[in-house]
Amino acid sequence: MGMSSTGAGNVSEVAVSLEALEPLVTAPETDATFPVEAPFTGDEIGRLPACVSADVEAAFDRAAEAQTDWRDRDVSDRAAVFIRYHDRIIDNREELLDLIQYETGKARRHAYEELLDVAITARYYAYRAESFLETEPRAGALPGMTETTVNYRPVGTVGIISPWNYPLSLSVSDAIPALLAGNAVVLKPDEQTSYTALKAFELLLEAGLPDDLVQIVTGDGPTIGEPLVANADYVCFTGSTETGRAVASQAGRHLTDCSLELGGKNPAIVRADADIDRAAEGLVRGCFTNAGQLCLSIERLYVHEAIYDRFLDAFVAAVESMPLGTDYSYDIEMGSLISGSHLEAVEQYVEDAVAGGATVLTGGSPRPDIGPYFYEPTVLEDVDESMALCAEETFGPVVAVSAYSDDADAIERANDTDYGLNAAVWTDDLDAGRQLAERIDAGTVNVNESYAAAWASLDAPMGGMKDSGVGRRHGEVGLSRYTEAQTVAVQKHLGMTAPPGVPYWLYAGVMSRLLKLQRRVPGLR
Ligand code: NAD
Repeated sequence: MGMSSTGAGNVSEVAVSLEALEPLVTAPETDATFPVEAPFTGDEIGRLPACVSADVEAAFDRAAEAQTDWRDRDVSDRAAVFIRYHDRIIDNREELLDLIQYETGKARRHAYEELLDVAITARYYAYRAESFLETEPRAGALPGMTETTVNYRPVGTVGIISPWNYPLSLSVSDAIPALLAGNAVVLKPDEQTSYTALKAFELLLEAGLPDDLVQIVTGDGPTIGEPLVANADYVCFTGSTETGRAVASQAGRHLTDCSLELGGKNPAIVRADADIDRAAEGLVRGCFTNAGQLCLSIERLYVHEAIYDRFLDAFVAAVESMPLGTDYSYDIEMGSLISGSHLEAVEQYVEDAVAGGATVLTGGSPRPDIGPYFYEPTVLEDVDESMALCAEETFGPVVAVSAYSDDADAIERANDTDYGLNAAVWTDDLDAGRQLAERIDAGTVNVNESYAAAWASLDAPMGGMKDSGVGRRHGEVGLSRYTEAQTVAVQKHLGMTAPPGVPYWLYAGVMSRLLKLQRRVPGLR
């Protein structure tokens, strides 16, 4: 196996004081704690409160109280906090990156992508919230007689449930527009990576966010998740499709609106006219960023038969030259999986595929010599429907490659999935790329990139079709989902019925003529 590796990270070098973060958890009723471990070594790094239902109730009470002042502030006042936060995130980057790596075991360059995401999200919404929230005039019922406006009011307190794979980005980036819209937030980060979320919110307090406006509850998903969904005025959930269904059905019972950002089994298509080296480089990142523990990760790779062998030579060589390791430096290209149980799940998928006849082109083994939960970047061929990894999200560094014959074949295979989160097309013919993209059933499609181009296009909506989600983050909708649209219609001059003394038959006749006129005049339609 040609992959190089660099030796054990020295976790004692991490400068962040975890003890100082623990009081940021809302846990008035809790004595029990749970352990958090460092995936690079498997060592316990600290313990956090295992919150219970009563803590969640207390968190919502405090948040709601803080929200009453916050929602009345000018939007520009609220925005100023996030403009300061943008700079704080960048200025504190080394400490934040250390902590993310410590808690997730990911490579530093992948931790840096989280930091970039939070910074651009803070900037984007801070400078646009005012226009997104502005009261808008709308066409009234009768031109000139009804003056109609729409107000965007905060929903109240938003409940956010986030996963472990991008603990900075997915805890904070959905909270930023919620807060800017005038809401409070109660956050439940994943139990494996809550310190990162606590650190991110400590920086938000330093940037001037009022005390209590964000509450963080830590601990077990089902235990805290239920009361969180029950108390929230809106639920923003990011995680697996299975948990997403449970959250959605609970939110449905409470008639609470929600957005669900769920799993994927994302395809990439490499056309015959693609630049092979560029595609190979971009797909190594697409398949193995964060060791494949990325919702947008490419797990199915369809390559045109005319370039299949040449592409695979370049791709496998690029995979094998990736440095794996536990360093706190940018030199490493792939880090650890999050935990022993996730390593087992990934191993199981690959073993099952190999037993069913899949061919391992590279990788296929754990790497305990580097760290307890490391798994090699793995490229498989001859994967078919009899194998679980053909249709299920492995969420690990594993990709299945096969050849296709023409665009129609590629589209059919790309769409042959219950998921619809992300996709990629590699081609030198950009028009053909756009046309292909339109026929793929996925919420985002990247042309000549795997995931980052669409994700970082913050002005455009982002989310999943089919079983990959409900609703969208990013763009205007990423903020307006946290508001209640309120229509105010002021009726001037004539009322909405026959004026006094005018018989209704006459009113109906005049109105009918006016309706016909209105349809004919372009400015009144
Ligand atoms: P998960 O669903 O197991 O956990 C996500 C969060 O939900 C955690 O905080 C967990 O504690 C909590 N939770 C667990 N049970 C709950 C319950 N009954 N009620 C409420 N909350 C509960 O997901 P995971 O394994 O941590 O994350 C990986 C999955 O997330 C993958 O499927 C990945 O594709 C998906 N994901 C999607 C996106 C996206 O934007 N679409 C982003 C990142 C991850």
